[in-house]
Amino acid sequence: MLRFFNTLTRQIEDFQPLEDGKVRMYICGPTVWNFAHIGNFRTFVFGDILRRYIKFKGYKLTHVMNLTDIDDRIINEAAARNITIDEFTEPYAQYFLEDFDALGNERPEVMPRATHHIQEMIEIISALLANGHAYESDGSIYYRIAAFPEYGKLSKINFSGNIAGGSERIDTDKYDKEDARDFALWKLVGPDDEPGWDAPFGRGRPGWHIECSAMSMKYLGKTFDLHAGGQDLQFPHHENEIAQSEGATGELFAKYWIHSEFLKIDDVTMSKSKGNFFTFRDLSAQGYSPLAIRYLLISVPYRKQLNFTFEGLQGAESTVDRLRNFRTLVKSGDTTGRQVTSRDLDETAVIAQKRFEAAMDDDLNTAAALAAVHDMVREVNTAMAEGPLAEEEQSAILDAVAKFDAVLGIFGPEDDGILDAEIEDLIAERQAARADRNFARSDEIRDLLLEKGIVLEDTKDGVRWKRR
Ligand code: AMP
Ligand code: ZN
Repeated sequence: MLRFFNTLTRQIEDFQPLEDGKVRMYICGPTVWNFAHIGNFRTFVFGDILRRYIKFKGYKLTHVMNLTDIDDRIINEAAARNITIDEFTEPYAQYFLEDFDALGNERPEVMPRATHHIQEMIEIISALLANGHAYESDGSIYYRIAAFPEYGKLSKINFSGNIAGGSERIDTDKYDKEDARDFALWKLVGPDDEPGWDAPFGRGRPGWHIECSAMSMKYLGKTFDLHAGGQDLQFPHHENEIAQSEGATGELFAKYWIHSEFLKIDDVTMSKSKGNFFTFRDLSAQGYSPLAIRYLLISVPYRKQLNFTFEGLQGAESTVDRLRNFRTLVKSGDTTGRQVTSRDLDETAVIAQKRFEAAMDDDLNTAAALAAVHDMVREVNTAMAEGPLAEEEQSAILDAVAKFDAVLGIFGPEDDGILDAEIEDLIAERQAARADRNFARSDEIRDLLLEKGIVLEDTKDGVRWKRR
């Protein structure tokens, strides 16, 4: 049974969805104001692992991930360029999705945008005003934390002191609030100011937290199973989502909360504001493969911090190459020869799958799950060096690889059964043909490799190749 750490209870719990066989999950998405960095993608790749594993366990899943396409940074950047917020955010939304796809993430069932759900936000705010959980001050609307005694139940922060301004994500609006902890639901804007939306309580624009309450409840209902996001969202964002949603509906918002830890670099959290980040595109441009980046990001369990190094990334690159070559070798392996009868690789594949599932069930321990994969690969490689695989062995191993990869997504699409060594041989043959001025043959080899998805690049240091 799948068990994981529920931030709400601070305990490892059995995962028991509200409805048998069905899971409804919300994961906070990106703010589309710039290129996402690989720290952001650690969180999104973890979300994808969570998604894939829930499906692996046989549940029917509805997964929602929003795109935040309005906030102060977006408004300022768009104004500085003299374009609308849509014109500003649209390219970044597309870049995000391109990178998200390239990293092997499955698209969530629903990817709503904040600016398309203003009406839903207005409805929640109206309900909160009607039942005393919100109030108006200087034309803006604030959440009244004093009306929600459970405030703090997620983050377990003691709110006895004055905390306004204590974190960059805390609302530090200067307007009059009854209590420093109160946060803006709706910010007043002038009649001609853009962006702005008309609401019964006046023209304005939404605060950040209300977005996620509106989009999650619209697609998943008042109460749903699972809400996830990066560690930094626990407070105040998720605490405020709970206050808004439960304040409006009077019902439990999400049953389980999962928070994933940070990606660091030189032991400092990777972030836009610190400037110590790499985007996915930065690393791609340096020749690193999406599979290696993904591998690196999942190599440490989600509740542990991970320190990014280029050494680690290079290591991940050779690991994913080894895994891909392994699959190709098993697939192309000669299964007709004399088998070694003293071994039972079907059993090896079964044991590896059991270990894999036990590791993932145990608070989504991807490191232990990867160890199960590597142990199987090592054992089968040793066996293949002794003699060919039996047909049943071959299919049992390929089946195990497919199951692992349905969750991990690190083997990538299959290449046409060509091994690194064969590629190197063909490249050497091409170099020889060129030296002989046999350009017909050298072109033929280039085309042959291209057909198999291998792209050659002639550099001053020789020929480099990569799988497309
Ligand atoms: P943002 O686009 O700023 O709203 O952030 C998107 C997601 O990235 C949020 O869930 C953050 O928690 C997460 N995030 C930001 N920095 C990091 C980091 N260094 N490591 C892991 N996740 C991060
Ligand atoms: Zn959110």
